[in-house]
This record gives sequence, structure tokens and C-alpha cells, in this order.
Amino acid sequence: MNDMPHQAIQELLAAYALGSLEADEAVTVAVHLETCPACRAELAAYEAVTDMLATAVPLASPPPALKTRLMARTQTAVALPLTRRQSLKEHLRRWWHPPYWRPGLALVVLVLAATALVIWQQNRPAPPSQYTLTATEHAPEATGVITIAADGTATLSIANLPPLTAEQQYQLWLIRDGQRDSGAVFSVNADGSAQITIQSARPFTSYQAFGITIEPAGGSPGPTGDRVLGFNL
Ligand SMILES: [Zn+2]
Repeated sequence: MNDMPHQAIQELLAAYALGSLEADEAVTVAVHLETCPACRAELAAYEAVTDMLATAVPLASPPPALKTRLMARTQTAVALPLTRRQSLKEHLRRWWHPPYWRPGLALVVLVLAATALVIWQQNRPAPPSQYTLTATEHAPEATGVITIAADGTATLSIANLPPLTAEQQYQLWLIRDGQRDSGAVFSVNADGSAQITIQSARPFTSYQAFGITIEPAGGSPGPTGDRVLGFNL
């Protein structure tokens, strides 16, 4: 018990002064202290510090300025989030409360509708601007093309259609719902060609089929002769 070296005792002195040693250690230190003036002196120093701490802590008080700063900071920390929450709530309330959100919604709908319209117009199949007629056995070499210009004017271009006698002419029929309108009465050049502007009472695109027949000179109210060219949509 008493053979603990002086150096080892010294390391326990601080804890001894604070009364935090185990009982057997405390006894060993006490026994050593009786025979060691150096350790007694050191213990006295530790005890002085311990006493000072013991008396100083209860009396300790923050400087008034520090106290004020701490209080202000505490109040700010509590007050700021409250202000921000209220401000956010106010924003949401204003944006979602009619009539504030209605112009925004109307704008979104308008933009979507305009976009849909543009897409639909781009993808909508353009009406055909050219119809190629098909020859029949009455004029197997003949070709005919109807071309519709941007302004709606329709032109018939004919090639290799046999020239007729003076008593006969070709007549173009515009067919719509079984009704036949006369589009042109014409003769071809010696080489079998012709360029004719088509006269149509209705918008040309409203017709579903076209036909060319051989008729008496001057044309007929309805087709009577052989069909030489035709087109069906
Ligand atoms: Zn000692």
C-alpha cells in the first residue's frame, strides 16, 4: 500500500484534491502525504485552485452587454422563421386566390391551344394540287392532268388525244355526288395536245371525280359519248 512511488502519487493529487479518487487510492495518497512535504505542497496548490473554482462558479455572471446580445439573437432566431413562413403563406394565398391565378391559367390554356392548332395544321394532309387522269380503250395513248393553282384556278393539260371531226368536241365533266357539271368544251391541236382553263361553278376541291367524253360540237348538257379519260378520287 505504501510502496507506491512518489511520482505515481503526484499524478493522483489533482483527483485527490477534487475528492474523486477511489477509497483505497485516497488512503494511499493520504499515507504518502504524511511523509512527503513535496506532495503536501502540491496538494495545497491544487486545493487552492479547487476552492477558487468552487467559489467562483456560483458568482459568475455574464457581462450585461453579452447578455443583451444573447437575448437579441435568441429573439431573432425565433422571430425570423415566423416572418418567412407568414410571407410564404401570403404569397401562396395571393397566387391561388381568384382572380390572380385565372389570367395565368387562361394564358396556359391559350398557349396549349395555339400549339395544338399549329401541330394540327402542319400534319393536316394538303388537298391534292394535281389529278392525273386515266386513259380508256377509246384513246389508250392519251394523257390528261388537272392542275390546281394556289389561287384555286384549275387547268387541264392534254396530250395524245386524237383530233376529232368538226362535228365533235371533247367535254370535261366535274362529278360531285353523282351530279355532272360541265368544266370545259374543247378541241385538241393537230398533235393531240390542249391547254384548257376549267370553268367550275363550285370550289374545284368539292368534286370527287372527273371525266372527258366525246360530245357533239358545242357540248352537251350531260355526257352522251365515249369516255376517253377519267379520274376518281
Ligand atoms: Zn510525494
